Amino acid sequence: DNLAQLAARGVRAIGPEVGEMACGEYGPGRMAEPETIARAVRSHLNQSRRLAGRKAVVTSGPTHEALDPVRYIANRSSGRQGHAVARALAAQGAETVLVSGPTNLADPPGVEVVRVSTAVEMLAACRASLPADLVICAAAVADWRAARPARQKIKKSTAAPVLELVENPDILAHLSKPGKHRAALVVGFAAETGSLIKRAKAKRKKKGCDWIVANDVSPGSEVFGGASNTVHLIDAGGQENWPKMSKEEIAERLAERIATYFEKAD
Ligand code: C5P
Repeated sequence: DNLAQLAARGVRAIGPEVGEMACGEYGPGRMAEPETIARAVRSHLNQSRRLAGRKAVVTSGPTHEALDPVRYIANRSSGRQGHAVARALAAQGAETVLVSGPTNLADPPGVEVVRVSTAVEMLAACRASLPADLVICAAAVADWRAARPARQKIKKSTAAPVLELVENPDILAHLSKPGKHRAALVVGFAAETGSLIKRAKAKRKKKGCDWIVANDVSPGSEVFGGASNTVHLIDAGGQENWPKMSKEEIAERLAERIATYFEKAD
């Protein structure tokens, strides 16, 4: 738990490595080799700021849609991936605005954080942050909200209440629409439980974004709230399959890919 919390704050761990340990046991617990540590530190310090001069807007976390003053519709998103993306973009020098739903995470360093609760607020905050060069929608936005949230706590009665829901705005689709403020690169995330690539490709077209980062969230994958993820990057040209890595590493690799995209476009 402590390690997970440190990672969420942006602290990178080097090791432990698996092997023979002092007490005669075998397993994860060995200090990484000094050369490995030196290499990791060197590469961290040498990281260039390839996105300096670019502005990024990132959405992260779940949204909470009120049913009454005490209850809401939500989902299992921890915000960990979105926060890591914001942090990685800022580390590459991008001026980064993180529009975050309710999470328990610390603000990533060097990032302007705008806190929101609902999808409607999230879209408004994103729009207020434009123009930007790139938009990354990593939030797990509730698709529906109560048509008329009750002003008073809904009382337990003999008949179960019937909830009337209305659709929330699709933030990614809105920010992907062509127009004066359309960012040069708009990236969405797709969490699917089957036919991952096919659905993610269809989603990229439907929403009008440029890239989709697709991941499988079938039961057992422990992506929601978990530390690691296996993703596929889908663009107009095809797909890249990335190996399993931590959400922080995915964020760093994505920031690198984005930097390469802008360098090629220049
Ligand atoms: O449609 P689905 O929720 O699977 O699409 C996922 C992608 O769309 C994510 O990038 C998510 O942040 C974005 N999204 C959004 N607004 C919504 C629903 C999804 O920005 N209302």
